[in-house]
Amino acid sequence: MAIESFNPYTGRVLRRFPAFSGAKTERILAQAAKAARTWPQTPFAERARLMHRAAALLRERQDALARLMALEMGKPVTDGRAEIEKCALTCNYYADHAEDFLRDEIIQTAARRSFIAHEPLGVVLAVMPWNFPFWQVVRFAAPALMAGNVGLLKHASNVPQCALALEAIFHDAGFPPATFRTLLIGSDVVEKLIQDDRVMAVTLTGSELAGSKVAAAAGAAIKKTVLELGGSDPFIVLADADLALAAQTAAQARMINAGQSCIAAKRFIVHRSIIKPFISQLKIHLLALRTGDPLDEATQYGPLARPDLADELTQQVEDSVRAGAKVELYGGQSQPGTALFRPMIISNVKPGQRAYAEELFGPVAIILEARDDDDAIRLANDSRFGLGAAIWTQDAKRGEALARRLEAGAVFVNSMVKSSPEMPFGGVKKSGYGRELSHLGIREFVNQKSIWIG
Ligand code: NAP
Repeated sequence: MAIESFNPYTGRVLRRFPAFSGAKTERILAQAAKAARTWPQTPFAERARLMHRAAALLRERQDALARLMALEMGKPVTDGRAEIEKCALTCNYYADHAEDFLRDEIIQTAARRSFIAHEPLGVVLAVMPWNFPFWQVVRFAAPALMAGNVGLLKHASNVPQCALALEAIFHDAGFPPATFRTLLIGSDVVEKLIQDDRVMAVTLTGSELAGSKVAAAAGAAIKKTVLELGGSDPFIVLADADLALAAQTAAQARMINAGQSCIAAKRFIVHRSIIKPFISQLKIHLLALRTGDPLDEATQYGPLARPDLADELTQQVEDSVRAGAKVELYGGQSQPGTALFRPMIISNVKPGQRAYAEELFGPVAIILEARDDDDAIRLANDSRFGLGAAIWTQDAKRGEALARRLEAGAVFVNSMVKSSPEMPFGGVKKSGYGRELSHLGIREFVNQKSIWIG
């Protein structure tokens, strides 16, 4: 794929970037490996000072960064600003807590003194997606840099300016330049980088296919990986739910980033007694959303990030409808090859249809009818994915009991699924493995070293 900024709203190419040559990539890798030996000597207080500065710069540049996202991948500027604020919060969170999270952990044994030390691994390669071009990277980079690691970013090919803007933030904040570098390279170079002995670990956020390729290469090279992959999150609405709030939140949860979020609610599993009012209320909320130029303050959802993504989503819906799914709300593309996709609702979704089995990465809500609690859990778990899940019920105890039965990395009762710096984030099944954020995230790329003093 060409490395280029393409505006999905206007259909125009804004800038093209030549991919880095092999020699340039090698130079950056060599510098990163050198920095991996010196950066861990920097005291936590100094790392924290720089990370706080990065947070401040994110806030200073918030408008410009939001504009960049609008131009490169169609995110409305109001959402872009919120994304940058979340990045700043997370930088501050790890600046404030990293030292604590990585403190020696005393273990009582037969030794005079024994403990676990947490030491950085070195150069970590991050392969990242375009849907949250800053957030996905920061939630890796903030803990990694605070832990004393060095980051090499291979960002998605359609957000090169976002990738460079983030590199500039860390550099301007005062981090030694080699501790965080953006590589403008195609995905075909990733395997070679993983094979290189100077790269110690790799993290990928993206599709199942890319995850399996990267994990296979890392497995062959015996390297640690964290994979944050796709999701088809269930949103369960039980008969005793606050229906109005559930339907309103359902629309919001489906429409995060024009539906292009791994933790967007995708499958709405609704008790049969309330299915009709749920669909009609969901419809009202979806139709009330304004679309338009992502640069316009009033726009609530923009185009999908690329026209080919909209074409693929149309294909998934059409195949499902041919196999028996019913369209409850008409929307979709106005014509093939364009990126705008209006929200849709489809029901009568059954095993054997693409919509039942695959992730729909755009604004299409799938309705599944549940007979009772057991049926809802069965439907929710009948998925290759296991990222997030939501349950709506006014009975908190029942919600908690059902939450434990869901095959997911996170379950939210009476709320939409969201990520926050304090809580671990990640999946099970084909949604990947490993955790980001919280104290668990920062420990993914450290050597948890046992030290025994006899
Ligand atoms: P993608 O095609 O997998 O791309 C993600 C990154 O992987 C890009 O940098 C891409 O580079 C690279 N890549 C693609 N194929 C590769 C390969 N064979 N070897 C090495 N690198 C490769 O995913 P996407 O379409 O951008 O993102 C959508 C997917 O990401 C969805 O499934 C979504 O659910 C998932 N996602 C998951 C999370 C999570 O936290 N679990 C968060 C966001 C998104 P190029 O751009 O150069 O191809």
